[in-house]
Amino acid sequence: MKNPIEWHSYHTEEVLKQLTANQTVGLSDGEVVERRQKHGANSLTKHTGDGPFKRFVLQFHQPLVYILLAAVAVTLVLQEWVDAAVIFAVVLLNAIIGFIQESKAINAINALSGSIKSFATVLRDGKKHSIPAEELVPGDIVLLHAGDKVCADIRLVKVKDLQVDESALTGESVPVQKITEKLDKETLLGDRQNMAFSSTLVVYGSGIGVVTSTGDDTEIGKISELIATTPTLDTPLTKRIKQFSHVLLYAIVILAALTLVIGYLHGQPLLTSFMAAVALAVGAIPEGLPAAVTIMLAIGVSRMAKRRAVIRNLPAVETLGSTTIICSDKTGTLTKNEMTVEQIYAGSEHFSVSGNGYNPAGVISRDNQEAIESGEMGEAALYKMLRAGVLCNDAQLIAPVSEREQWKINGDPTEAALLVSGLKAGLTGESLGALRSDSIPFQSEYQYMATLDRVASDTLIHIKGSIESILPKCNSMLNRVGESVPIDIDDIKLQAEKLASRGLRVLAFASKNCTTEKQTLSHEDVAEGLEFLGLQAMIDPPRPEAIEAVAACHKAGIRVKMITGDHALTATSIARQLGILTSDSDNKTITGYELSGMSEQDFTHVSENYDVFARVTPENKLQLVQSLQSGGQVVAMTGDGVNDAPALRRADIGVAMALNGTEVARDASDMMLTDDNFATVRAAVEEGRGVFDNLKKFIVWTLPTNGGEGLVILLAVLLGVSLPLLPVHILWVNMTTAIFLGLMLAFEPKEQGIMERPPYDPAAPIIDRILAWRILLVSSLLCVMAFGLYELELYWGASEAQARTVAVAMFVVGEAFYLFNCRSLHRSVFSIGLFSNIWVWVGIGSMMLLQLLFTYSSLMNEWFQSEPIDLGSWLRVFICGWLISLIVGAEKWYRNNTETKIKAKPETQTHVRREV
Ligand code: ADP
Ligand code: MG
Repeated sequence: MKNPIEWHSYHTEEVLKQLTANQTVGLSDGEVVERRQKHGANSLTKHTGDGPFKRFVLQFHQPLVYILLAAVAVTLVLQEWVDAAVIFAVVLLNAIIGFIQESKAINAINALSGSIKSFATVLRDGKKHSIPAEELVPGDIVLLHAGDKVCADIRLVKVKDLQVDESALTGESVPVQKITEKLDKETLLGDRQNMAFSSTLVVYGSGIGVVTSTGDDTEIGKISELIATTPTLDTPLTKRIKQFSHVLLYAIVILAALTLVIGYLHGQPLLTSFMAAVALAVGAIPEGLPAAVTIMLAIGVSRMAKRRAVIRNLPAVETLGSTTIICSDKTGTLTKNEMTVEQIYAGSEHFSVSGNGYNPAGVISRDNQEAIESGEMGEAALYKMLRAGVLCNDAQLIAPVSEREQWKINGDPTEAALLVSGLKAGLTGESLGALRSDSIPFQSEYQYMATLDRVASDTLIHIKGSIESILPKCNSMLNRVGESVPIDIDDIKLQAEKLASRGLRVLAFASKNCTTEKQTLSHEDVAEGLEFLGLQAMIDPPRPEAIEAVAACHKAGIRVKMITGDHALTATSIARQLGILTSDSDNKTITGYELSGMSEQDFTHVSENYDVFARVTPENKLQLVQSLQSGGQVVAMTGDGVNDAPALRRADIGVAMALNGTEVARDASDMMLTDDNFATVRAAVEEGRGVFDNLKKFIVWTLPTNGGEGLVILLAVLLGVSLPLLPVHILWVNMTTAIFLGLMLAFEPKEQGIMERPPYDPAAPIIDRILAWRILLVSSLLCVMAFGLYELELYWGASEAQARTVAVAMFVVGEAFYLFNCRSLHRSVFSIGLFSNIWVWVGIGSMMLLQLLFTYSSLMNEWFQSEPIDLGSWLRVFICGWLISLIVGAEKWYRNNTETKIKAKPETQTHVRREV
């Protein structure tokens, strides 16, 4: 391999020359095609964390498997070849199944997080394009902005306060300030300040650079094998189950030892006692449970994806079910983010703007008078303000190509709306013929954007932003005839508040004359001495689905809090329209200014009791999450900006936007909304609850198998009789029923009223008292029935093998009947519809076929020491199974009828809590 070029050690001109790139034009289409052929797509070769081999071997790294392997060894020593072979085969099969399940889960998650593409802004043929990151080629000129992910290795040629978080590459979390000057050849990777590396994140400022390497040639590509990540499959629930299994293991080792001793005292041969001990261990430990939980969660992941919520972390699926508070951005998530200027205030006059959306068909008119023509405006306030709106603007308006299409935009909708209002008065960027020398991009923290423009012979600063950020910087304003007069701050505030209280987003505009030499723009330049030009107020209608979703959340015991950078009055009005604030009297709106000076105690009080947070800064968001969490809430928080990342990380569910959010926010999130819509959060919560329900059902269904088997063995040992179930039988039951019966619960449709009950309490045990009791009941029933039938068969003269086959059948059939009870935790199967989950029937059918094979195929007879049984035995087994189902049904019915009265209480309680 030839030595890679040390791009950081050359001047920018040399780099551009070597790559035959032009900083102002970019590559041509032809060059791009050529280079793509040469360098391939800009993507990394996939390395999936642990290789398949290692993951397979890890399947054997489980306590149960150790016990089984010990059993294989002992049976080999005792020359019980068939036993040894069957146990080993089962261990192998178990590992294969575990491996497949795990791979499926990993693939499901990988596929989803890969489905959201990264985009890069490039200059090609002199025009800006947003292209998928894979299409970048060396020599491309890339524009970087705060919030972007760097998609290739780039030599920077121009920077403005550019700061990059390189932790993905170097582990260093403090952002690196970038420069363009050349550096020493020996400079280490982490100090190459004139380069931006693939997969790092731009957290501040902006820059331009030329792509030096792509795909596997990038620095990240070189080490990606080392850092390749497999998604974590551990969730709080699977961890708890694993802990539970481990505790159980100790208990079982002791019990198994006891079994050995007791068996020995009963004068049984050592092999029998040993087998009993193994059987106990195998039967009583729910080893398959974590894997089953994982696969059920993975199924949840794909269900959520269908509803446009992409899960990036498996644990999030679980957490969604217990979410108690959703903090949502207003603009774009609760509202449509389709801004249209409706009202204008300039030169102390009001104007209204007609028209809809981004279609520039519409006119500006003085209240109730005829339209103002562009010539009429002269150099008055209205003209200057509209001009400021058009020039202090990075958005683009795209005219429809055909009649069926609509006007579209590129960039920030707030800015696009200003282009439209300008166009309605005949102003466009081209017609103004201005040249921009520099700009300060909009940032939520500053709440304004400014540009330095050369218009004709003047050099002007144009600035727009919130009234709070603009007014204090102004000392004059334009009056009705366009003269400069002292500013009347009170009047402007009053006008702005009038507009905001109608739910309009209000932007203030100002300008400042500069000397012609001025080339660059800084925050100090706009700190004072501005001339106020006017206000533009735009509507951003609430999303109709969001209104519905907010109501649904309230019903589900989830509180919705609106977070916005907008004015308090605007926010309040929109919150009313959305139903977040209900009555006129409960004015639960608070601003970031008020929050900032607050004591911790007050903050906690406010964070819990207020629902609308206006003029919020990213720090406020983080504080809010922390404060709510310390009160025991499970918080989902949406965010799209660079500075939202800490809050997203901190939240229990960080929610990012796939359409309009920054890569930085996505990177920090647990879930992404592919439609940026609040209603999707609600859908995800609903799915999360469904998944959690199904997990619970599975656990309640599966544990009695383990309990029953354990009890059977224990009983046999205590009584000193032969074992009704051998280890291989227990393995058979556990494996086949979990797959063919239990997993079918994952396809259980969501129960009715799932969004009408309070969220799951994450601190509460998964198995409450009622369910624990049920598990015990069914375990005992299975034990008594299997044991009883076994002894009965023996008593009636059946062979030991036949009697055992009956005991195995009892477990399988009993679990099949009980499966119906488990399809709903509290309601009867008839009320949810016997056939509403067809998979249950498919599973039972397959399971019965397998059981017939187990009983009648001679090969299976040999392997599992089973023997054909007659119809009478089957009949007894089915009657017993049916009895189990009946008894559990009765238990549920009894509880439902005695506990409905008690249930009414907690509901009123949550209601009361919400009112306080
Ligand atoms: P939101 O949380 O609703 O998206 P932002 O933080 O984007 O709020 O905006 C806060 C305020 O900053 C707005 O009310 C508006 O006055 C002003 N603002 C929003 N977008 C821009 C922009 N592109 N340029 C200048 N000012 C803006
Ligand atoms: Mg915004």
